[in-house]
Formats: sequence, structure tokens, C-alpha cells
Amino acid sequence: MATLEASFLQGQLEERKRRLEVAVAYAPQNSGLAGLLREVDAALDRMAEGTYGICLECHESVERDRLLADPLVRYCLDHLTKSQRAALQRDLDLASQVQRNLLPQKGLRVGCWETSYHFAPVGAVSGDYCDLIPSDGRLLFLLGDVSGKGVAASMLMAQLHALFRSLTGMSLPLHQIVTYVNRFFCESSLAGQYATLVCGLAGPNGEVEIHNAGHCPAIIVGRAGATCIEPTGLPLGMFLETEFAATAVQLETGDTIFLYTDGLSEASNETCEYGVERITTFVHQQAARQPAELIAACLDDVRTFTNGVPSFDDMTVLALRRCG
Ligand SMILES: [Zn+2]
Repeated sequence: MATLEASFLQGQLEERKRRLEVAVAYAPQNSGLAGLLREVDAALDRMAEGTYGICLECHESVERDRLLADPLVRYCLDHLTKSQRAALQRDLDLASQVQRNLLPQKGLRVGCWETSYHFAPVGAVSGDYCDLIPSDGRLLFLLGDVSGKGVAASMLMAQLHALFRSLTGMSLPLHQIVTYVNRFFCESSLAGQYATLVCGLAGPNGEVEIHNAGHCPAIIVGRAGATCIEPTGLPLGMFLETEFAATAVQLETGDTIFLYTDGLSEASNETCEYGVERITTFVHQQAARQPAELIAACLDDVRTFTNGVPSFDDMTVLALRRCG
């Protein structure tokens, strides 16, 4: 362990020891405090012996960030005790609940637009981003995918959620909102972290402005056929100065916009990927369905296609249909 970190942790332990001694003097009947004090003393002893920060089970180093968060940690992640595993699981379950609360209302209907979505993290939390925000009689729809998976990706997803929610309602044009979000996202994410995103603003008469920032093609289906909106710009978080160009489309009653993350397009069976072409063909064939039915039918088709081969990616699907 680096000297600076070692002295920081030693200081942390000594500070805890002082506080515990005071607390024990005031509440000698509290056996929990005495137990903690013994743990802190034992950690200081390990520090003096030079065995501090070494996993008691495998004798490898304990993860640095975990020690900094809790200087009493004695096992590496691979060798947590049963109760430590349970505590970690509780944290993840809570994070999962927090993330689910960030999702938009199910079956939301705004003006002539009816919507449905399916959000399926591969673990407890997802790096996929899905939101529907009503704004002055119009509907802002967003579907994105943050690089990576798990907790780190889910934190960035939550950040995107907060950024779009705070900027919507400020009466800015959509391309301006995307430009601001890109800038904030660039400044706060680590190098190599970015998010692909499709976002659009659906108006009361079927007019839709849509941006595709490096995401899978957005699919529009209806009586007139199927159209793909390919990426019109780079993912968010890659370059500070990026222009985001919009595509304007006019949807007729009964037309549907179908968005998905690569958890869907890259779902695989033993030989190949499900793929954008297959999604487009399927969604076009089923274009008469309501959004919820369309998504359910598509998920059924993917399940049949993958034939039991497990997925290792988060999957999110969002559909909006002009119903009037
Ligand atoms: Zn270990």
C-alpha cells in the first residue's frame, strides 16, 4: 500500500479509536461499541505488524477503494463472509429500487401518443437509460445505453436522467438540450465513458424531431413501410464540442417509433445475432399492434430466436405510437 494511503488509513483508525473510547466511557453497557473498539485495535495491530490490507483468506491485497470506504475490511471481494455478502446484496437491491423509481410511468399517454417500454437489467442495475417527459403538450422520449455495465454505468444513467429532466421545461430547442447534456456529461464522466442515445420530441400532430447520438437505428413503421433513423451524431460524452443534427419526420395515425438497446439487437443464439434487420422486419409485420403488445410480441420472438442462450447485456425497448 502507498505510504500516503497507509498514513491516511492509520489516521482514520486512530480517530475512530478515540471516538469509540469516549463513547464506551459514556455507554459502557453498549456491547456493540466495545466490539467495534476491539476491531479497530485489531486493525491497528495488523498495521503495526505489516499485515493490514491483506485478505485473511487468500493473503492477496484487499481492494483499495473498499479499504478507503471502510478501514476495518479484512477480506477481499472474493472472500467476503456470509453477512458481508448479504450487506452487499442489500446495497444492490436498494440501488435497483432507486433505479426503477427513475423510470417513467408505465403506459404513459400524452396527446396523440401512447407508449410502452420494457426495462431489463442483466444484473441488479442497468446502464440503459429510458425516459418519457411530457413537455408543453409534446412528449420527449429518450432511450440510451451508457458504456459498461453494473453500478458505475447505473450512476451515469441516473446522471443523464437528472440532466434531461432538469433541462426539459426550460423551453430550449431539443438540439440545445442535447448539446448541454453532452457538455455536462463530458465534464463529469471518466475518459472512455460515454452514452449512445436516441432522443426525440413528438408533437401533437404527428411531427417528430429525432436525434440519434451513436445509438442503434431507430425504427419507424406504419402503412407507408419501415424507415430506419441511423446515427446522426457521436455518442454523448466523447467530445466536448459536438453538433447534434436532428431529423424531422412526420408520423401518420397508426405509425410507431420503435427504440431498443443493443441488448436486443445483439441477443444471440448458438450461431448468430438477432440483428437490426430482423427487428425491423418483425416490427413492420406487427405494426398494427399497440405499443405494449408490440413489445411483448418482439420479446417472445427474441426468446424463440435465442433458444435458451443466456444474455449478458442489459435490454431496454421503448415504443411510441400515434393513436389519433
Ligand atoms: Zn481473498
